[in-house]
This record gives sequence, C-alpha cells and structure tokens, in this order.
Amino acid sequence: MAKEELECSFCGRKKPETSLLIAGLDAHICDRCIEQAHGIVLEESKQSDNSELSAELMLRKPLQIKEFLDEYIIGQDMTKKVMSVAVYNHYKRLLQSPSKDDIEIQKSNIMMVGQTGTGKTLMAKTIAKMLNVPLAIVDATVLTEAGYVGEDVESILTRLLQAADYSLEKAEKGIVFIDEIDKIARKSDNPSITRDVSGEGVQQALLKLLEGTTVNVPPKGGRKHPDQKFIEVNTENILFIAGGAFDGIERNISKRLNMQAVGYSASKSDDIIDQNHLLQYIIPKDLKDFGLIPEIIGRLPVLTYMDPLDAKTLRAILTEPKNAIIKQYKKLFEMDDIEFNITDGALDFIVEKAIEYKLGARGLRSLCEEILTDAMFELPGTDETEIKITKVYAENKLNKTTIKKLKAVS
Ligand code: ADP
Repeated sequence: MAKEELECSFCGRKKPETSLLIAGLDAHICDRCIEQAHGIVLEESKQSDNSELSAELMLRKPLQIKEFLDEYIIGQDMTKKVMSVAVYNHYKRLLQSPSKDDIEIQKSNIMMVGQTGTGKTLMAKTIAKMLNVPLAIVDATVLTEAGYVGEDVESILTRLLQAADYSLEKAEKGIVFIDEIDKIARKSDNPSITRDVSGEGVQQALLKLLEGTTVNVPPKGGRKHPDQKFIEVNTENILFIAGGAFDGIERNISKRLNMQAVGYSASKSDDIIDQNHLLQYIIPKDLKDFGLIPEIIGRLPVLTYMDPLDAKTLRAILTEPKNAIIKQYKKLFEMDDIEFNITDGALDFIVEKAIEYKLGARGLRSLCEEILTDAMFELPGTDETEIKITKVYAENKLNKTTIKKLKAVS
C-alpha cells in the first residue's frame, strides 16, 4: 500500500491528515485517536479509584473513624468527633455522582485552633494514614506573596505532588495541613505580629487554593528551576486542614463572652463560663478579630479546638497510643534482646518535668532521649538482658542543665 493510502483504523483519517500514524500488527492508529483513547483510560481509572475510596468509606463510618483516631491520639474528643464527620462528608462529596438535584455539597476544610504540641499535626497525619492519601505539611510562615523572598503558595501543591510520588490523581485527593496559619493574620488587627510582608497578601493567595481552582504548579518547586514544565493541579477535592495557636485569642473570646453576659443572658446563671478552657467557645468572629480575612474563614468552615494537655494526658501519651514513645523504646531494646521496663514513678517524674519546664508533649520524647541515651549506647553487645528505669535512675540522668538545654530547643 502506498504511504499516503494508509489510514487510521479507528477514525478512517488518511495519513496526510494526521500528525502521526502508528502501525500495529494489521491496523493503524492516529494521534487524535490515541489521545481520545488515553482520555477514556484515565476516566475509567478515575472511576475505579472512586470505587476503591467508596470501599474504604463503606468500612469506616464517622464512629469508626473516631475509633481509629483514638488508637493514636489521646483525648481531644471534640476535635476527633468533628474531624470524623468532616472527613466522612468530604469523601462522600467526592463520591457523589453528578447531581440531579443541584445540591452541591460544600467542601469541609477544617480549622483547628490550639496551643502548639497539642496534636494538630498528629491529627492530620493520622487521618491521612487512615485514608491512605498523600499528606503535605506546610508552615504558613514561610509563605509569601509572589514576588517576595520566600515560597509562593503554589509550593504547597509541589509538596503534595512529591508526597504523592508525582501521581496527579492521588495528589488531587490528598490532604494539605497548613500549620501556623495564625502567623499570617493581618497586622493591623494584631500588633504583636512583626512580619514585613503583610499577611493579608498571603491570605489572598491561599484563598485561591482553598476555593478549588486549577493551579499551575512547578513540580520541583521554587524558582531555582526556571525551565521546568508546570503541572496543572485541580484543588477542588483536596482537603485543607489549617492549624494555629492563635496566641492571645482567649482574651477576645473572654471579652466577647463577658459582653454577651452583660447584654442579655446575665440572668442565666447556669451558663457558667469555664475560664480555663475558653477555646471551646471559639466562633469564626474571633478568628476575624484576630486578623484572618472573612473569605479565608469562610473557606475553612469546620472550626474546632484542641484542649491543652494536662498531666493525665501527658502520662497517657507516653504509654497508650499505638506507637507510644515508651512502646517504641521497648521495641528498640527488644531488638537487642534486652527487656525494657520503666516504673510508674519514673513515668510520673518525666511528666512532672515536662510540665515544670513547659516542654509539652514534644518534650516528652526529648526527656526520654536524655534519660535513655547512655543505656542505648552502652547496653547493646553486652550480656545485659534487662534494663529497668526507676525514678532515681531518671533523676540521675536528668540534671538541671540538660533540662535547660531541652527547653532551649523545643
Ligand atoms: P501541634 O501540631 O499541635 O504543634 P503535634 O501534633 O506536632 O502538635 O504534636 C507533637 C507531638 O506530641 C506529636 O509527635 C505527638 O507524639 C505528641 N502528641 C501531642 N498531642 C498528642 C495527643 N493528644 N495524643 C498523642 N500524642 C500527642
């Protein structure tokens, strides 16, 4: 057959009408048909991905999601409950077929308010682990408006792509955790923030991502690779979780609550305000007064709070979660055939020090490291088959200077 007479076996276009005609055993296919077929393949795999997700969700209802969170996170019941519902609804929204009734389920992006070290990141990590979706953790303080020194907000999606091994499909269903969102609050409403680039510009830039748009993302991030090809990422189904300590927000809450009390419900004496846990009364207006723009607050509609960690919670964090710190040390020693034990007195001592020096949950690990480094260095390879950490042992390993050092790092 003459070259010009060859045609696409699918659409019948003659070779000269095509840009490319690929030969098979006894058929040909043109560039356009390849693209069309590729589109069909993508569409099909999307649907089967959805059915995977749906299988996952069939297994886990909000109650079960909370049970999963309970295995890894101590306390924070309110947030766990709110998260379970939000995550469940978010993925239900992904599964809804194009709606016949025009009811569009809004995305349930989440805002978590709570002191640092109370488990916000852990919460996002655990959700991502449960759903088996990629997670990007980013710090809002490094973000700047395009054109300033720092990272553009698109870099958030670069991280997500990296976490998804560059699978666009996986990234588009992933989770982004934006930490320290309070640090990009507007300056004027919050004189304690001393950023030179106004946070409001960053908030505006973030807004676009949260809204659900297609964003051109440099796959390698940054501005160091100017020739890289952009990847188009659609943020519509990405779950955004924001977290922040919002230092001082309790004052706003307290002021608002007192005003309300004077206003109209002063007679309701049964509405006693728990002054030590004011975060539980947080409402979106408090975030606005702190300096977040209303549009951002509106795009993070699920608002929840983290309780500060008391001694009982810290003690439980040491031993109870599935991968609790003490369980990890037990395992490490076990690999050297050494049985590791720690007394209640020693555990209480660690918690006491964490509180005394305001080291929080993160400090628990550093305290344990200080106490156990010598043992972990000396024991492997010896005949020892057992180590028991008592309060006295812990006290000996931890003197004031080591604790001061820990305080400086945390
Ligand atoms: P945040 O993001 O609020 O600053 P993180 O999630 O990073 O806090 O918590 C710091 C560490 O403290 C985590 O690695 C985790 O091990 C521990 N932690 C904090 N809160 C809890 C909790 N409620 N349950 C179990 N571990 C916790």
